[in-house]
Amino acid sequence: MKIVLASNNAGKLAELQTLLAPLNMTLVRQSELNIPEAAEPFKTFLENALAKARHAAQLSGMPALADDAGLCVDAFGGQPGVDTAYYATRFGYPKGDDTNVSALLEQMQGITNRRAAMVSTLVAVRSADDPEPLIAVGRVVVQITPERRGTNGFGFDPVMLLPEFGKTFAELPPEVKNAYSHRGRAAQAMLALMCERWLDSPAP
Ligand code: IMP
Repeated sequence: MKIVLASNNAGKLAELQTLLAPLNMTLVRQSELNIPEAAEPFKTFLENALAKARHAAQLSGMPALADDAGLCVDAFGGQPGVDTAYYATRFGYPKGDDTNVSALLEQMQGITNRRAAMVSTLVAVRSADDPEPLIAVGRVVVQITPERRGTNGFGFDPVMLLPEFGKTFAELPPEVKNAYSHRGRAAQAMLALMCERWLDSPAP
């Protein structure tokens, strides 16, 4: 089965292709089909991922898979959420991973509740008007450290401490990160859902 990935990010394509390999599904990036990116005007990961999946299915006539992800900080009522990639720009910094981390550390100064979750929501539809989209959420709960630690990974990895390891993602090897990451967990859950609902076969 061919399925359109509603993202043009080559890294995500490779990761999801590997994770969904047991299903014999070929993921095709929407840009390869000349499909423009959908608007993401909503406040929740779920609404944005659903809008992206529907848009890709509508324009391709094929099943589609979309993701939306971000950091939800307890002390900020779950923000920055869907705006995570642009978080730094709220405080006058340019958009970027490093400025995002600086802004977060500044905004969390003096805050004792450091708990946050990195969340990935995957949505898959068989067609644009599929009444039963598949929805898989993966999350990893972390403590935001008061300063950067480690050099691996990207994004907020240097300040995301996994309590079970006492280390940040940036201090852990990539295989450990992948085993615990929000994206890996969401993809595993999506794999199981596709097997059960679309393929009527046991999860591998
Ligand atoms: P995206 O939508 O997956 O590209 O990510 C949204 C935001 O979350 C971006 O600012 C990323 O840098 C950040 N982010 C996504 N995944 C990770 C991760 O695994 N570790 C740290 N930051 C991440």
